[in-house]
Amino acid sequence: MHKVESYVVGIDLGGTKIAAALFDSNGTLVNREQMETSGARTAEEVVERMIGMIRSVSEGRLLTGVGLASPGAVNSRDGIVINGTNLPEWDNVPLKQWMEAALKVEVQVVNDANAAAWGEYVRGAGKGSENMVYVTFSTGIGAGIVMDGKLILGTESFAGELGHNIIDPSGSLCSCGRYGCWEVFASGTAIRDTALKLMENRATLLSELANANGGKLTAQHVFEAMKLNDPVAIEVIDRAIQYMALGLANVVHTFNPDRIVIGGGVSKAGDLLFPALREKTEELVMTPYRGTYRIVSAGLKDNVGLIGAAALFHTFEAE
Ligand SMILES: [Zn+2]
Repeated sequence: MHKVESYVVGIDLGGTKIAAALFDSNGTLVNREQMETSGARTAEEVVERMIGMIRSVSEGRLLTGVGLASPGAVNSRDGIVINGTNLPEWDNVPLKQWMEAALKVEVQVVNDANAAAWGEYVRGAGKGSENMVYVTFSTGIGAGIVMDGKLILGTESFAGELGHNIIDPSGSLCSCGRYGCWEVFASGTAIRDTALKLMENRATLLSELANANGGKLTAQHVFEAMKLNDPVAIEVIDRAIQYMALGLANVVHTFNPDRIVIGGGVSKAGDLLFPALREKTEELVMTPYRGTYRIVSAGLKDNVGLIGAAALFHTFEAE
């Protein structure tokens, strides 16, 4: 039987770049474009740029919808970006309304961590799961929750800000203005900052690695030095894994997931991270929860936000 192909565009709006891609109903990426966000100062200019990209990647094809992943706090019901982290001058931007008026097609807007969670659930490492929590450890900690096959957004669609769960009120100041959030202990930034502190008065390979990178240390360097048995790096990663596991144990108790998908730059550490993280989390969860969930590495790479945003319309079940 002849079936009319249905196309969806996914957009990943970031602080530094905008990516747009056209997907067919099998979830095959047909076309992709990327542009710098910088240069476009106002929200209107960014929206204009995105509309141009949507028209360009779709090459005249009729669209079923446009899914958009945006940083910051997003009201998905109305498609409003309340405030865009990394997008200065973004305040209550009615993205859905503006874009629907220009494109004459339905637009859905979600926070980028939720889009990534949905992407992993539909096409990545969460496939086949029923209750999945996605956690990304990078500059901060982002998360998205899928329960009974549904993306959980909450009343104002702010659900899933697990990185700002306070795990120790005596901890350091977080970007959110409060103290001791999970992300000040367990993000990539936390790994770097702890390493920088310990480097001040101890000999470590980290100094060489930072110098070779123009004096800039990253969490990646700390894993590299750990691989070479550097005691400072080992100490930093041990501490980070302890805190990552602590937060994941809270996730297990709160959501009782069958799978936890770990994304973000830190997840690239692979075997330097996962075996220890699984072991520590199992130690920290209450007995009945042991063995009820798996902790796995994310399956999708740079296109995860695009795929997740597009999958708000298609679940790509044909795949
Ligand atoms: Zn915070």
